Amino acid sequence: MAHKVTLIPGDGIGPEIAQAARRVIDATGVPIEWEVVEAGEALIEEFGTPLPQYVLESIKKNGVALKGPLTTPVGKGFRSVNVTLRQELDLFANVRPARSLPGVTSRYENIDLVVVRENTEDLYAGIEHNVGKDAAESIKIITRAASERICRHAFELARNQGRKKVTAVHKANIMKLSDGLFLSCARKIAEEYPDIEFEDMIVDAMCMKLVQSPENYDVLVMPNLYGDIVSDLCAGLVGGLGVAPGANIGHEAAVFEPVHGSAPKHAGKNRVNPLAILLSGILMLQHLNQHQEAENIMQAVTAVLEEKKKLTYDLGGSASTSEMADAIIEKLPK
Ligand code: NAD
Repeated sequence: MAHKVTLIPGDGIGPEIAQAARRVIDATGVPIEWEVVEAGEALIEEFGTPLPQYVLESIKKNGVALKGPLTTPVGKGFRSVNVTLRQELDLFANVRPARSLPGVTSRYENIDLVVVRENTEDLYAGIEHNVGKDAAESIKIITRAASERICRHAFELARNQGRKKVTAVHKANIMKLSDGLFLSCARKIAEEYPDIEFEDMIVDAMCMKLVQSPENYDVLVMPNLYGDIVSDLCAGLVGGLGVAPGANIGHEAAVFEPVHGSAPKHAGKNRVNPLAILLSGILMLQHLNQHQEAENIMQAVTAVLEEKKKLTYDLGGSASTSEMADAIIEKLPK
């Protein structure tokens, strides 16, 4: 039976990379029936929001989505579309693997780590107010339920992927109550997983150690804001935004999307790297238990990267988005 998957092309470069990823995924022969739904800036005039209700309904119905980036309109009173989507669907875990890819130049080799970011609370809860004219407050929310849930997700991921260590990242020395609660939840959940090594680290020290010796880390779990920052740092360790995939996982739905945004200055030029969304598609195929197809795409991507003939500008080549996708399709088993 075919998997029904919501496909959201998104804004800016979204449609061209989503099309490239779809063509590669379809070329594996995997039984997927795509339900294409539009979201983004172009819909604001008609629906009053970049995220009409039918988008959420489609994802809820199908349970799985592959999503291009969505632009958050600046200064028009909209909350981030992406934050809203994650909160509405309770996609509580943002999972961002950072893995060295053959042929992709970066400062490090042999990196294979995963950032697991809490996705629903912390300073992203959206509770802000002005205090008079000259001050403002943003409220940081940390709850036991969300902290235990994300830490359990990190340990389960470690166990399922045969990983050895979970590092909880926090700033509990300063935010003794909020980050202190997160840390105590992490310690409690760690006791349920004696087979996985556990350590904790203060976020500033973590950033330094990731730059000095990233090979020492495996699974990192942390509250929302630190996760946002540290996961981009980790993307930088392995070749940057063009190759950084992500997944937003909840109990009812999962949305797979590249880490990068809609890069408006490149939109419509057929020149950006399709790998970040395609690698997100690989995570999606694994989620759907289509492991052979996921592996076939990964091998085809590896072959194209190693050959270095059909690479986009950010990887040092001059191929277009669609030419790189064609080259990957060419390498798939016939
Ligand atoms: P961006 O990630 O869109 O682009 C920054 C730069 O990174 C680009 O100018 C380009 O040089 C490079 N880049 C990004 N993707 C690339 C690719 N696939 N191949 C090659 N190079 C690539 O970040 P931004 O400019 O800060 O954000 C633009 C918009 O995207 C904003 O509205 C922002 O809110 C939104 N955004 C959305 C998401 C999402 O949908 N999940 C994530 C981040 C940003």
